[in-house]
Amino acid sequence: MSFTVHGLAVSQGIAIGHAHLVSHALLEVAHFTVAPKHVEAEVTRLRDAVASVKAELAGLKAASGSAPSEVDAFLGMHIMFLEDPMLVDAAEALIRSRRVNAEWALVQQMEQLVEQFEAIEDAYLRERKADVLQVVERVVKVLLGHPGHLPPKRKDGLGTIVVAHDLSPTDTIGFKDHAVAGFITDVGGPTGHTAIVARSLSIPAVVALRHIRHVVKDDELIIIDGTRGVVIVDPDERVLEEYRLRKAAVELERSKLKRLKSMRAATLDGEEVQILANIELPPDALQAKGVEADGVGLFRTEFLFMSRESWPDEDEQFEAYRSVLKTMAGKPVTVRTLDVGADKELEGATRQEDNPALGLRAIRYCLAEPKMFLTQLRALLRASHYGKLKILIPMLASSHEIDQTLILLDKAKAQLRERKIKFDETVPVGGMIEVPAAALCLGAFTRRLQFLSIGTNDLIQYTLAIDRGNEAVAHLYNPLHPAVLRLIHQTIQTGQKAGVDVSVCGEMAGDPDCARLLIGMGLRQFSMHPAQILEVKQEILRADAADLAGKVQRLLKLDEPDRVREAVEKL
Ligand code: PEP
Ligand code: MG
Repeated sequence: MSFTVHGLAVSQGIAIGHAHLVSHALLEVAHFTVAPKHVEAEVTRLRDAVASVKAELAGLKAASGSAPSEVDAFLGMHIMFLEDPMLVDAAEALIRSRRVNAEWALVQQMEQLVEQFEAIEDAYLRERKADVLQVVERVVKVLLGHPGHLPPKRKDGLGTIVVAHDLSPTDTIGFKDHAVAGFITDVGGPTGHTAIVARSLSIPAVVALRHIRHVVKDDELIIIDGTRGVVIVDPDERVLEEYRLRKAAVELERSKLKRLKSMRAATLDGEEVQILANIELPPDALQAKGVEADGVGLFRTEFLFMSRESWPDEDEQFEAYRSVLKTMAGKPVTVRTLDVGADKELEGATRQEDNPALGLRAIRYCLAEPKMFLTQLRALLRASHYGKLKILIPMLASSHEIDQTLILLDKAKAQLRERKIKFDETVPVGGMIEVPAAALCLGAFTRRLQFLSIGTNDLIQYTLAIDRGNEAVAHLYNPLHPAVLRLIHQTIQTGQKAGVDVSVCGEMAGDPDCARLLIGMGLRQFSMHPAQILEVKQEILRADAADLAGKVQRLLKLDEPDRVREAVEKL
C-alpha cells in the first residue's frame, strides 16, 4: 500500500530506488565482569579495536581524494574522537576499575560524552554527538566481529535508498560506489552530517522522519523528494512516472550547474561579478573552496565564541582565522568581528535587556568590552600576515563607533609591534550596513572605511521594525519592501561613487530570485552560503546588467510593495 511521510528536506533532488534498511542495534551491548587475570587482555582488546578503526579511517581518508572535502573533514573528526582521552582512555580506566567488558566500558564513556554534547546550545556543535555515536559504533563492530554493511548493487537499474536511524560519513563513503540514490533517516537536522555529506555528494536526502525505519520494508520501492522533504513508499505507476520525469529535469539542471564551478561569473554584457561565501566555522571554508568561491565574504566569528564557558583566547582565535586563510589559498577572507547580542547569546551572559535587538549587540557590545575586542583585533592582525584578510565591523550606526574601533585597532597594532609580531599594516577595514541610519549617512562611512557590506537580514529588520526572530511578525518581513530596496540601491550607488567596494552578505544575496534585481542595482559582489553559489552564478550569467539597470531604476520609483514584487518577478 502506498503512503507518504514528511520530514526535513536537507539535500535537494529526486531519488527513486529500493529500500535498504541499516540496523542500529549495535550500541545496545552486553554488560559482564571480567576475571582479574583477564583485565589487561580486555584493555588490549579495546586498544586493538580502536587502532584498527583508526587505521581504517586513515585509509579511507587517504583514499578519499575524489570525495568532497566535507567527507575528509568528518573522517578527521572521527579520528580525533578516537584520540580523545575522555573516550578511550577513560574506557580503559573503567575496564580496570570496574572489571567490565571493553564494549560496555566504551559505550558508558560514549554516553557521558553524548550528554555533554546534548547540553551545547549551538546546533552545529550539538549535532556532533552523532559523530561520537558513529565512531563508537564502528569500534563496537570490530569488538563484536561484525561485518560492515554495504547495500548490494541493483540489477534493475534503480539505485538503493538507504533507510537508517542515522548515518556516518564513513558509511556514506562506503556507499559512494554502490549506486546509492538517496538517504532517509529517523533523526537529523539541516546541519547534521548526513545532511552535509548528502549535499556535498548531491544525493537527495530527507531526515527527521522519526520512525521511517519501522514502517519501510527491505527492498520496497521508494521515492525521495529531497526538495520538498517528502518520501513516498510503494508508489503507484502514475506517481512513479510523474517523479521519473521530474527527476530527469532536475538532473539535467544540476549537471549544467556543476559545469559553472570554474567559470568566472560575468553578465551577458561583460560585467564581472565576485561570488563569495558566508561561513560560520573554519571547516565551512572547505565547502566554499569546493564550489570555487572567489573568497570568503563573511566569516561570522561569533560562532567561535558561542556555546562555551570561556571566550577563545588570542592564540585560539588566531589559529581559527589563519586556518580559513590557508584553506582559501590567497583568496580574500573577510572576517567579521564579534556580532553577539539579540538572537546570538554568549554563555553566561549577565545582561538582561528588554529589547536585545536594539540593545548592546555587535559593535556596541565590543566597544563595551574593550579587553575582549582588543584580543580579537590582535588575533585578526596576526592572521593578516598569512593571507588577504579584511576586517568587517557589524551593525554600525554612527561615525563615532568607527572612530572608536579604529583607535582600538591602532592600539592592537601597537601592542603587536611591541611584541615584534608581524601583521599586515594596511589590513582593510570595512563596515556592515545594517541600520537605516548608516545607509542614509553613508559619507561618514565611505570617508573612514575601505569597503562596505550590506547585511540585508538586519537592514530589513531595522527598516521595517520586524524582529527577525519573532514568528508572530514573520509574515511582515519583506525583503522587497520599496523602503528596503531604496536603501540597498542608495548604498551600492553612493559607495561606488566614493570608490568603495560594496557587497551584500545577507540572505538576499543567496536568493536566485533576487540576483537580477541586485545586478540591476549595480551590485558586483555577492556573499552567500556556499550551497547557493552555483544557482546564483547561473542567474548572473543569464543577466544583462545594462538592461536590468534601466528596469530597476523604474521599479525603484514604485512605492506599493505588491507592485514592486510583480516588477521583480518580471525582471
Ligand atoms: C545580516 O544581517 O544580513 C547579516 C549578514 O548578519 P547576520 O545575519 O549574521 O546578523
Ligand atoms: Mg546582521
